[in-house]
Amino acid sequence: MQRTELAIIGAGCAGLTAAIEAARAGVQATLIDEHARPGGQLFKQIHKFFGSHAHLAGVRGNDIAQCLLDECRDLDVRVLLSTVAYGIFPDRLIGLGTPAGVDELRAERIIIATGASEDPLAFPGWTLPGVMGAGAAQTIMHVHRVLPGRRVLIVGAGNVGLIVGFQLRQAGAEVVALVEAAEHVTGYMIHAAKLMRTGVPILLRHTVAEAGGNGKVERAVVRQLDHSGGEPLTFDVDCICIAVGLSPLVELAHMAECRLAYVPELGGHVPLHDENMETSVRSIYVAGDLAGVEEANTAMDEGRLAGVAAAESLGKLDAAPAAERKERIRERLAALRLGPFGEHRQAAKNRLMAILRSLR
Ligand SMILES: Cc1cc2nc3c(=O)[nH]c(=O)nc-3n(C[C@H](O)[C@H](O)[C@H](O)COP(=O)(O)OP(=O)(O)OC[C@H]3O[C@@H](n4cnc5c(N)ncnc54)[C@H](O)[C@@H]3O)c2cc1C
Repeated sequence: MQRTELAIIGAGCAGLTAAIEAARAGVQATLIDEHARPGGQLFKQIHKFFGSHAHLAGVRGNDIAQCLLDECRDLDVRVLLSTVAYGIFPDRLIGLGTPAGVDELRAERIIIATGASEDPLAFPGWTLPGVMGAGAAQTIMHVHRVLPGRRVLIVGAGNVGLIVGFQLRQAGAEVVALVEAAEHVTGYMIHAAKLMRTGVPILLRHTVAEAGGNGKVERAVVRQLDHSGGEPLTFDVDCICIAVGLSPLVELAHMAECRLAYVPELGGHVPLHDENMETSVRSIYVAGDLAGVEEANTAMDEGRLAGVAAAESLGKLDAAPAAERKERIRERLAALRLGPFGEHRQAAKNRLMAILRSLR
């Protein structure tokens, strides 16, 4: 059995920043990821981020990931790759599936930063090859450098669908349409405008009704979602990308007996957590999409907050500098949660904290 002061499960942007903050304070941190390469979703995001300078506006997602990895290496963070954390057992014992077999890691503190999974959408033909999550299309394009299809239909006008649609256009695919069940685009208009400028029609109040083809997807039938009885539209496609939402990956937190609450604004079931990202189980923290689906910037700051709080609780940071550092991070998070989308999420986070306070 191995031992560590702090185990961080998930080396996406939340896990990486948590490791950096904790290691900077002198914590012996172990970062675990099931993939051969750390970085989580960031490596797929080859576009420049927008927002403020403090939040790395103008820098590409994959470059941000590389900077975070370099920092982890400089701080001697121990990184276990191709290693899946399959369970959290009493007294913070983590079960690991490693390339060499099964192992165990006992941690004094744990930060769970496992991210989110894509929601599926079932319709006749949805299991045909060529129907995939938008995240899968992004992986195929940006990690494996292969075009997932030449004529693509996208389902879902949230940020993921809009961004992946634009990236498909940049990569040379034709996006025949983007369909959205709601009456309005649910992602940022800046992303919708970029996509529409490339000539892609966004069909609101429409959804995919059926996929057809011989052994692979060859056509998509799209229907209007009202009672006008309009004729369905048929598109010849070789790829359908589903981008209808993300759900926090809460299994490990649930297994560790962290209390969960269902919060639609944050993507579904999320662990209750306080202003230090600590869950209802003392010494277990959460950060990033697992703590509520938001964006890479918020995930990074939540990771930093959890890293500082874990370091403080291990006695590696005095209360005053820890409080100052946490306050600065919380101010950045508050700034990120301004605006109509962010305010809903901030209100949801406040509700989670209030429930946890009432339980303690
Ligand atoms: C398709 C898609 C497009 C996006 N586009 C943007 C965008 O353009 N801009 C933006 O700001 N945000 C975007 N996001 C959101 C952003 O990527 C996330 O908010 C951010 O990556 C969350 O970081 P995270 O560290 O919480 O999770 P992730 O980056 O998902 O990292 C989680 C890590 O945990 C690992 N892991 C999970 N379970 C285990 C386990 N049991 N054992 C070991 N390792 C485990 C995974 O391998 C992964 O590396 C996008 C998300 C998706 C899915």
